Amino acid sequence: MMAEFAQPPPPARWLLFLTVAVGGMRTEPSFAAAGDAAPPGKIAVVGAGIGGSSVAYFLQQHFGPQVQLDVYEKAVVGGRLATVTVNKQSYESGGAFFHSLNLHMEDFVQQLGLKHRREVAGKSAIFTGEQFVLEETDWYLLNLFRLWWHYGMSFLRLQMWVEEVMEKFMRIYRYQAHGYAFSHLEELLRSLGGDTFVNMTQRSVVESLLEVGVTQRFIDDVIMAILRANYGQSVLVPAFAGAMLLAGAQGNRWAVEGGNKLVCSGLLKLTKANIIHARVTTISLHSSEGKPLYQVHYENEDGPGSNFYDIVVIATQLHDSKNNITFQNFDPPIAEFPGTFHTTVTSIVHGYLNSSYFGFPDPKLFPFASVLTTEAPGLFFNSMDNICPINISNTFKRKQPQEAAVWRVHSQHPLEKQELKMLFRSYYSVQVTEWQVCPDYGSVKNLPPIILHDSLFYLNTMEWAASSMEMSAVAAKNVALLAYNRWNHDVEKIDQKDLMHKVKTEL
Ligand SMILES: Cc1cc2nc3c(=O)[nH]c(=O)nc-3n(C[C@H](O)[C@H](O)[C@H](O)COP(=O)(O)OP(=O)(O)OC[C@H]3O[C@@H](n4cnc5c(N)ncnc54)[C@H](O)[C@@H]3O)c2cc1C
Repeated sequence: MMAEFAQPPPPARWLLFLTVAVGGMRTEPSFAAAGDAAPPGKIAVVGAGIGGSSVAYFLQQHFGPQVQLDVYEKAVVGGRLATVTVNKQSYESGGAFFHSLNLHMEDFVQQLGLKHRREVAGKSAIFTGEQFVLEETDWYLLNLFRLWWHYGMSFLRLQMWVEEVMEKFMRIYRYQAHGYAFSHLEELLRSLGGDTFVNMTQRSVVESLLEVGVTQRFIDDVIMAILRANYGQSVLVPAFAGAMLLAGAQGNRWAVEGGNKLVCSGLLKLTKANIIHARVTTISLHSSEGKPLYQVHYENEDGPGSNFYDIVVIATQLHDSKNNITFQNFDPPIAEFPGTFHTTVTSIVHGYLNSSYFGFPDPKLFPFASVLTTEAPGLFFNSMDNICPINISNTFKRKQPQEAAVWRVHSQHPLEKQELKMLFRSYYSVQVTEWQVCPDYGSVKNLPPIILHDSLFYLNTMEWAASSMEMSAVAAKNVALLAYNRWNHDVEKIDQKDLMHKVKTEL
């Protein structure tokens, strides 16, 4: 789903950080043994996407296996990690790739004994509706030359900017490996990159890139195309969300053999979490021996029910009125969550590409597996990719453009019949999913809270800084640590300042 015009090796400084951070994760102390307070009896997680399943895993890592974990899921395990089946083969329809520097995701894949899916090479291009402004070739040096020829030093400046942001962001893995948690998203960001990171959630990516010398032309052509393909939004998205996305668009990307959602089901199986297939409707506050107790009310085909918990983690969007979770007996009441989520429509089309639409009358000569688009009047889709199934054998070859292939088209609205006809000469099937893909980044200014009440946490706050599988996993680790440290009154491990110095001097 992300463009890869040139694939340089990962920058050396990132690699160094990676080694240090992974080292930190491996030597993580067992927190399960460290707490003084009696462990909680029951914990509820609402949502079984990557956020919910990874928080279940981390909560168990910290509190130990004796704690009962109930995970509520109203639809299917995986959430926005999902597949559709075409001709007996399955394809990713939601979250498609993660990056090799996504350390939590990499760790999950390793722990669960899953495999990286084999990458099948394919070239990308950027289309304006009339012509291609940038076309990838098979030659790395030629790609670099083309970028330089069209856009001067902008590509290099972008790389340096992204690298600087990522180097700071990756501090989170060391902080988390040392057991530190944050009770506000602003605090987390500030500890990584100072006020600059907090400001990056308020100013646009275009502003930040212009400031470091990236040209408007490069932004309009390349940055715009990457943002449209992934967030479905423009270069006005906040700089932090933009930087995280652009980092993921470069270098080594992976998907899980058999489907990314295997990470969610695998983590839930590993923790032996009790999956309750029900929609949570209300969370109400009670107390027991001076401690809060949360009653989770739910509905499923057997009717309504409820259970009591010491700790509750909400691992879904609360801005989405469809989820409709209400909060009762809280004083002060839990405020409404303003803002909206952005809709992206994914159409998985099995058919013959109409290469003439792109200026290639002979389909055999159409060289691209991935087409991104700039913002232009009349352009009705954001991106389209000739996709590979979730299981790839060693002999698998990507379908040629003259053959019937499976294409994933992202658009703002469901494609009309005549729009499908423009992109495809003919097609066998179209499967449409309407996703609430990520926050509409212009819709609110302030970041939502992580702590809704003493032991009631909101994981998807993180999406308002940036949205991806890894961001959900980072948020999950933070919430698990926060819940654990608060339960054990370990204030030294929450919202600490000068953490870079502290983790350097800690064993
Ligand atoms: C089309 C698309 C492409 C993407 N591409 C990428 C990519 O290439 N790389 C990447 O890193 N990210 C990508 N993403 C983003 C990534 O998929 C998400 O950021 C991530 O999966 C979010 O996980 P989550 O667990 O936080 O939320 P979700 O996956 O949304 O999980 C929330 C779960 O909660 C359940 N739920 C909601 N309300 C209730 C309730 N009241 N009671 C019980 N259960 C409830 C839902 O059914 C859902 O299963 C993409 C997303 C989409 C849609």
